[in-house]
Amino acid sequence: MRRLVIVSNRVAEPERQAAGGLAVCILDGLLERGGVWFGWSGDIVADESGIGVSCTRRDNVTVVTMPLTERDYAEYYLGYCNAALWPVHHYRLDLARFTQENTEAYRRVNERFAEELAPILTKTDVVWAHDYHLIALAAGLRSRGVRNRLGFFLHIPFPPPDVLMAVPEHEWLVDSFLQYDVIGFQTKMDQSNFCRFVCEHAGGEMISDDTLRAGGRIVTVSAFPVGINVDAFAEMASSAEAQKRIRWLHRCGEPRLNIIGVDRLDYTKGLPDRFRSFKRFLELHPENCKAATLMQIAPPTREEVKAYCDIRHELEALSGEINGQFGDFDWTPVRYVHRSVPRDTLAALYRGSQIGLVTPLRDGMNLVAKEYIAAQDPENPGVLILSRFAGAAEDLQEALIVNPYDVDEVAQAIHKAVIMPLEERKQRHAALLAKIREHDACNWMASFLRALDAPPIPM
Ligand code: ADP
Repeated sequence: MRRLVIVSNRVAEPERQAAGGLAVCILDGLLERGGVWFGWSGDIVADESGIGVSCTRRDNVTVVTMPLTERDYAEYYLGYCNAALWPVHHYRLDLARFTQENTEAYRRVNERFAEELAPILTKTDVVWAHDYHLIALAAGLRSRGVRNRLGFFLHIPFPPPDVLMAVPEHEWLVDSFLQYDVIGFQTKMDQSNFCRFVCEHAGGEMISDDTLRAGGRIVTVSAFPVGINVDAFAEMASSAEAQKRIRWLHRCGEPRLNIIGVDRLDYTKGLPDRFRSFKRFLELHPENCKAATLMQIAPPTREEVKAYCDIRHELEALSGEINGQFGDFDWTPVRYVHRSVPRDTLAALYRGSQIGLVTPLRDGMNLVAKEYIAAQDPENPGVLILSRFAGAAEDLQEALIVNPYDVDEVAQAIHKAVIMPLEERKQRHAALLAKIREHDACNWMASFLRALDAPPIPM
């Protein structure tokens, strides 16, 4: 087996294995094959004089990291990645900010990653880069003579051509993608948006369902939906400790109908619309007053970007408004927790909630939806309400699929979940559980690597 080199913006340290399913699978894959994990250390230094790579080794895995400068952090990370690419890829052109400096910073940092990575590579390594921070990495490696198989996985959505065209220099961005040999997307729709762009605007042609010929190269383009480690999550949710937490949850405030939302506080997650839907549900079905609680766990993220401060203020105002209008001495309708919680606590909260409300306006996949399913008691499962605009909805059709912009529709879905008979809940849950098992974290990793390890397709 050839050595594997993973490149990602942030590197998961081996000791923090508890983190997420994907990080665990990637680390396991690296340990099995031997390899390198290369990326930003998370450190920020004053200027380029402070930049240098550092290496640590554990078993047969070498972790190589480098810092960003203050300027890179502002222009590349916050500016281009999070205030230009992130909103565009989530169809939010209204929030996208483009400047020449930020675009140049993106090129510069990708070049610097390539400059440091190229000398580490041996001729037979396979390289797998992750996410929108590193679209231009392959071009930087190719220009340094790297001929290895290079793969790329985009964790966020890929928008339709008309949306992408709002990015200045989008042609360059698409050409950069095409320097990889295998490009993975979360869903068939993302894959099709990308292929449409290449075929309609970049002179490419499809030579099979998942093979593109463009710019003198042959590229495999396919959907590899990410998943979770289902058994690990289910175990956490059914542990004795989790049961204790669930009993506590039911005692504290005596809610009989727990609805849970868990999301980073990001404008893509549709949280204000979700709160309005819950309010509408209370208006339409007042018999649930005093019984229903929406517990929203939303840790802060990217607070240096203005759109993230705005969403925080909007949400605080909305939860205050709903609690003011509906709450009582013995009932708080919205419990809004603005911080991260340990994963085993999350698992218990999912299990103790009769409804999982996952209503992003746009999402690459959404792992919370899968975690909610994995955490349920199969004999008495809760109901997942899922946005049609989450990548997960392409597969998880047995959830209650909703349009998150339609407050009335989501309110009605909540009501439908409340009154759903046990038999229907069990049937839906069994079907969903089978699907998340089929597309779990390790299958995702294995199927991408199969495509990357495959011999190149001749021109
Ligand atoms: P995104 O990658 O956009 O944040 P996902 O739903 O795909 O969205 O993944 C989010 C991950 O972060 C999930 O594994 C979820 O459990 C975790 N997470 C989200 N909110 C919290 C929180 N408050 N505390 C701990 N983990 C969280």
